Amino acid sequence: MLALRPNCECCDKDLPYDAADAMICTFECTFCRDCVDTRLGGRCPNCGGNFAPRPIRPASKLAKYPPSTERIYKPQGCGRAA
Ligand SMILES: [Zn+2]
Ligand SMILES: [Zn+2]
Repeated sequence: MLALRPNCECCDKDLPYDAADAMICTFECTFCRDCVDTRLGGRCPNCGGNFAPRPIRPASKLAKYPPSTERIYKPQGCGRAA
């Protein structure tokens, strides 16, 4: 099951479970679309893989399968643009 991490690893932007701009790689490294497009060039800085839009979990499932609350923030991995 997806962890649904709560933020972007690059800019720490909040990415709630229903964020339309949340992107994940195959290891669930999680970024906002802005960072993926402008800072990462579409490639995950942790594993080198590509991204896909994160599916939105239906609200009716959130009580039983809540999103992760563990924030992961690694700006040093996002290199390039300041
Ligand atoms: Zn971001
Ligand atoms: Zn990754």
